[in-house]
Amino acid sequence: MLHFQTFIGGIFDTNAYLVQAPGGNILFDAPTGASDWVQDLAVRPDLLLITHGHVDHIDDAAKIKRIFKCQVGFHPEGIPLITDPNFFKKLGFFLEPEPVQPDFFIEETPETEFCGIAFRVLLVPGHCPGSLCFYSADHDLLFGGDVLFAGSIGRTDLPGGDHELLLRGIHEKILTLPDNTMVLPGHGPRTTIGEERRNNPFLR
Ligand SMILES: [Zn+2]
Ligand SMILES: [Zn+2]
Repeated sequence: MLHFQTFIGGIFDTNAYLVQAPGGNILFDAPTGASDWVQDLAVRPDLLLITHGHVDHIDDAAKIKRIFKCQVGFHPEGIPLITDPNFFKKLGFFLEPEPVQPDFFIEETPETEFCGIAFRVLLVPGHCPGSLCFYSADHDLLFGGDVLFAGSIGRTDLPGGDHELLLRGIHEKILTLPDNTMVLPGHGPRTTIGEERRNNPFLR
């Protein structure tokens, strides 16, 4: 069983997950306050994997990279959102996250490895361009970002959003995972693929 801890931070109650993997510690997403949280745990993240570039998931990313000298990875389509300090201001948001530069890019791939854990990386746009989900078949876990929630799906009214595209991605890439897969979403409680397949009203 994989050991992980959850943090909820920022004005949108965004989840971050810290995974103690055999080859190091992986932090998924960096909401406001994640940096202090990780410091309090006295666990050093070796890797920060960003599911997508929305401001609530990256607010502490630059700070975490600076403090822990960890490697930061995200999908290339996240570049404008994550590395341009004015991206959100131009859209009329008052938020101005500190930009962070990637150490590597993450592409969709059937199998790769992060800190000794095998992951399938799924590109599921529609909520946001370059939105990634990280699936561990060995541990029946999906770090899902803002793609699929307990009883809901990601909003598609933000720039680059596309409802049909999101639904297609969920049906083709997410609901095809085993029912017992635990989904760790970017907001709200955890759920399972089976539960959402049966009861999620957005997937009927
Ligand atoms: Zn989002
Ligand atoms: Zn979010």
